[in-house]
Amino acid sequence: TPKQPSNLSLLLQSILEEARQLPEAGKVADYIPALAAVDADYAGIAVATIDGQVHWAGDAEQCFSIQSVSKIFGLVQAMNRLGDSMWERVHMEPSGQSFNSIVQLEWEHGIPRNPFINAGAIVVSDMLVSHYSASKAAALSFIRRLAMTEQIWINEEVFQSEKEHGNRNAALAYLMKGFGNIVAEVPDVLDHYFYQCSVEMSCKQLALSLVFLANRGVHPLTEETICSRRDAHRVNAILSTSGMYDQSGEFAFTVGLPAKSGVGGGIAAVVPNYGVIAAWSPKLNSFGNSCRGMHMITRLAAQLGLSVY
Ligand code: GLU
Repeated sequence: TPKQPSNLSLLLQSILEEARQLPEAGKVADYIPALAAVDADYAGIAVATIDGQVHWAGDAEQCFSIQSVSKIFGLVQAMNRLGDSMWERVHMEPSGQSFNSIVQLEWEHGIPRNPFINAGAIVVSDMLVSHYSASKAAALSFIRRLAMTEQIWINEEVFQSEKEHGNRNAALAYLMKGFGNIVAEVPDVLDHYFYQCSVEMSCKQLALSLVFLANRGVHPLTEETICSRRDAHRVNAILSTSGMYDQSGEFAFTVGLPAKSGVGGGIAAVVPNYGVIAAWSPKLNSFGNSCRGMHMITRLAAQLGLSVY
């Protein structure tokens, strides 16, 4: 069990101040204008614990584009909806290639290596489009239920520009469709995928919405079973090997927590039987992970002895 500090909020505050002092490093995502325009100085951190508390510091109430962190929500929805048959269409191995790599897909006959690279999340989106009559509404209401608020929205500007700049994701989707691993129409699948990427949440909302993964699948506040204990373990396992792009190995080595990052600068890290840490700051390192976010989570994990290993 992690050490519970007498005042977690104070600890978060000091870690945040330290991250703010970091020498200017990294670069805000600029593949779409709406992300490039975000103020690079934002930094926030929140910890939701399984006893139902949320501690936080800095810009933890400011909403940001969760981008690839949304791949967790889609995966849990698909696991609930499809059961184990889904693992015939997406595997659970680390990729070792960039998150939007197309070569590996070709070698592996249209079966993505895991649900956290783009190809994998696009297959998961196809499953959701095929199994829900209104998959986008279902995705948003799932996230709202987890975060216990109706006040979660997508950023319409991000959504539209993801679609305009979505050629590479479209290529992945069409290649998989060629291999028979996309069932619905590609534009509908991409529409769902970009929609979930465009969801905006704050660190406080994100930490709370994922805390069921630290609590064997049960939401600690609503006491609702969000997924089975086995599936919570499985999601955490894939997060551990594949959640931090091509820095997943180093993150396991230095931090030792299942985690997912996104190019909006958000990172969510699960501490089994304790809680979820959500950190956000827009500047990214060369792997696409938030520089200050990595720093904050690394410090907190070291200070509290959180590594699962
Ligand atoms: N919308 C981005 C893409 O699909 C998400 C990137 C990310 O956060 O990894 O390219």
